[in-house]
Amino acid sequence: MNISLMKLSLACLLLGLVSTTQAANYFDKAENCLNVADIKAVDSHFEQFQNFSNTSKTQVCRGDMDEKWFEVVRSTLALQRLNVTDVLQRDANDDMTLRPIGQKDWWTYYTQRANQYVIEPSRCNGNPNVVAFVYPFFRGSINLCPRFFEMDSASQIEVLMHEVRHFDGHSHVTCTQGNEEGNAGACDRQIKQGGSYAVSVQANVELSYVDQLNFADRVLAESSAIYSVNNKFNSLPTVKATDYVYASNDKAEVWRLPKGKPSQAEFVTALDDAAAIYGNGSQFTVYPVDTTKDAYRISKGFKTLATAIGAYANMYNADNATERKAYGAISYYGMGSIVKDNNLHTFCGTQATSMTSFAFNSGNIKALPVLKDSEGADKMFIMNDAGDLYEFNCNDNSGRLSTAQTRSVLPAETATAFAFNANDAVVLTDAGELKAYNLKTNSYEGIISGETNWISASPLKVYNVFDNDLK
Ligand SMILES: [Zn+2]
Repeated sequence: MNISLMKLSLACLLLGLVSTTQAANYFDKAENCLNVADIKAVDSHFEQFQNFSNTSKTQVCRGDMDEKWFEVVRSTLALQRLNVTDVLQRDANDDMTLRPIGQKDWWTYYTQRANQYVIEPSRCNGNPNVVAFVYPFFRGSINLCPRFFEMDSASQIEVLMHEVRHFDGHSHVTCTQGNEEGNAGACDRQIKQGGSYAVSVQANVELSYVDQLNFADRVLAESSAIYSVNNKFNSLPTVKATDYVYASNDKAEVWRLPKGKPSQAEFVTALDDAAAIYGNGSQFTVYPVDTTKDAYRISKGFKTLATAIGAYANMYNADNATERKAYGAISYYGMGSIVKDNNLHTFCGTQATSMTSFAFNSGNIKALPVLKDSEGADKMFIMNDAGDLYEFNCNDNSGRLSTAQTRSVLPAETATAFAFNANDAVVLTDAGELKAYNLKTNSYEGIISGETNWISASPLKVYNVFDNDLK
């Protein structure tokens, strides 16, 4: 619920008119009431909804009905109201622009395939990761598991569209690559077959554009689409994306330099204050150099402020301007960590809901470089003031953190470093230079930028479909 709506409902409360004609926002997970007229409009199709529309009240609210059914009706009414933008042009070389559901009217597509829900059938108990499922021979019926009810509105819509796609004859196979390798029934073979995960990608890309959803939901939709293209197809989709170095300088400017093409640097934005910026998925967390200013999180287009800024920025903001001077390196990649007084603060353990700290005893932590591990995945290392690199590991079972020195070193003048592959690193030096560094030969290979006033540098892969000013 946005602020103006809150003010409006407060005014209505004062006048004692709260339950008359208030509009309900079905995209808002915190919405408390559903309009009976809206339920009546769909209850000849979803006959189960008549249990809630068969009343003389104008609204049914949480508390009037089972909370899970409340979520089912709310998310169904949200799907009905979804204004699909359809702004993306199909690009034959970018599978992120595939549209397995060709029609703009998703509601008709959905209602032609779904007409009833089963809440938490016993088969949900077998696998806590299952959100929903259907039996292909039981057309019309969507089975919803506990996780569905906790999801944000955008994810619920994506799940509903994914499920009904199964009624068109699409089923899953065992994953043969990615994070879920070996998981039965958790992947599709190819995105171009247009199965349920192709619909998930289409839905998440589209939902990231829909302004009926709040910013956090849209960002989540974007990251879900990126996760799916990388992990839900046994044959990796062809997508258009560019690896960038995003860098900020002492004039409070942000620039981005395409990997390997520093001459094509683009100006991104001017910040209010000179700051270090850290990419994390689809957003940046910004720490102003002036410690009297709070850290904040913003969209990758530097246009929309996020309300949730993450645990590290929260920890930093909770300290006063003097205490903030004790902070050092920060990383949002790999394990991720924030350094204060030479202690690493991070998340480790199966119940990783609160931060743990680790005292580093092998010199002063100078940087938290993110390099590739042997499997090509991002891994965060610790660099001390001599340039020695340490692996930083978490044993999730015990919640124990440990370090181990590696054979690699970086120049002692490194302030920040990261790598796009096993060989090529980008190093930001103490002097504010951006240089290319070869991790195999342990030597500089050239200057990336002739400027010498850089404060921070951060890698970010930007997918073409998400390289827009909407977020
Ligand atoms: Zn499925």
